[in-house]
Amino acid sequence: MTAWKGGRRKTKGRKTSGSRAAASAVGLERAIAAAARELRSTGKALVTCHVSPDGDAIGSGLALALALRARSAEVVFYSEDPVPYNYAFLPGASTVVRKVPAGARFDHTFILDLSDASRLGRGFPREGLGTVVNVDHHATGPGIGGLQVRDEHAAATGELVCRLFKAARVPISPEIATNLYCAILTDTGSFRYSNSTPGAFAAAGRMVACGAEPWRIASEVYESEPAARYHLLGRALSTLHVSCGGRFASLYVTSEMYRATGASKEMTDQFVNFARALKGVEVAAFLRELPDGRFKASLRSRGGIDVSAVGVRFGGGGHRNAAGAELPGPLDHARATIERVVAEVLGCTASSV
Ligand code: 5GP
Ligand code: MN
Repeated sequence: MTAWKGGRRKTKGRKTSGSRAAASAVGLERAIAAAARELRSTGKALVTCHVSPDGDAIGSGLALALALRARSAEVVFYSEDPVPYNYAFLPGASTVVRKVPAGARFDHTFILDLSDASRLGRGFPREGLGTVVNVDHHATGPGIGGLQVRDEHAAATGELVCRLFKAARVPISPEIATNLYCAILTDTGSFRYSNSTPGAFAAAGRMVACGAEPWRIASEVYESEPAARYHLLGRALSTLHVSCGGRFASLYVTSEMYRATGASKEMTDQFVNFARALKGVEVAAFLRELPDGRFKASLRSRGGIDVSAVGVRFGGGGHRNAAGAELPGPLDHARATIERVVAEVLGCTASSV
């Protein structure tokens, strides 16, 4: 999941960049109108999202898939990684496939919740894509394809999909509403993070009016935990390391811990927030070992620190207050690398690290 945005929203920066902001708003409206036309004209579409999908990736993708199918389009929703256990209840989740049929040709390909081709699945086809439409709210990455609906101020890709549906006059069924509500709920950290904007609440409110049931969705997403997750969490918490005078905290999970607890990688969702929730912590990192011995870093900040810049330094990216990247192992090396760069960003002296 994308548990991000612990910091304050940059409304000030937006106001001061007046004319540029206005120009890009017009650009965004045009892109939404163009994407709406594509949505209405497609007969066969590929929908995809980023690897290790979260509630926004799956929810916005399923909403789009359901909307297109309701228009009698043929849709393949491809995700390299399986739908995480706590999103399997989402309407349409059983239709997500992990392989695109060989040689398939599409009128359109909709790429959701990523702007960086390195986060596409390995099985993402390079041919037969038709018109590519990229819908995303990440601050980093060049974008993919010719038609890009990108707004880093949107709380979730799901919020942008709501706008797209409005422009395309897509009827919102309770199933579509459930997916889009879930996308916004999870990317705002249950409406706690600084991306919990009036736009996010308005879109979520519309989805509730269209049939999304907040209590049921919250219970499926947050209160359907497998015991293995808690066993893994116990081990992860015991790795807590605080440095930089209490401003940086980190946790990790190794392959051995997965083996010992029977847990899997999607069960580590939100672990990083335990580190960020410590009083005084400004930057938090969570490292999880990948099957090849590298480490996936989840980075979070609150306040002014931009962790997307840290992610970018390692070939990753994300948002100001939530980002990620992959680092070479072994564990001690990965931990030291992150700690060094975070100390640099926080301006800690070597002795306080
Ligand atoms: P998470 O830590 O929840 O996996 O990701 C936090 C945020 O950073 C999400 O918005 C996610 O899409 C983004 N992110 C995570 N890992 C990467 C990465 O390797 N590259 C890029 N560009 N973004 C990432
Ligand atoms: Mn997202």
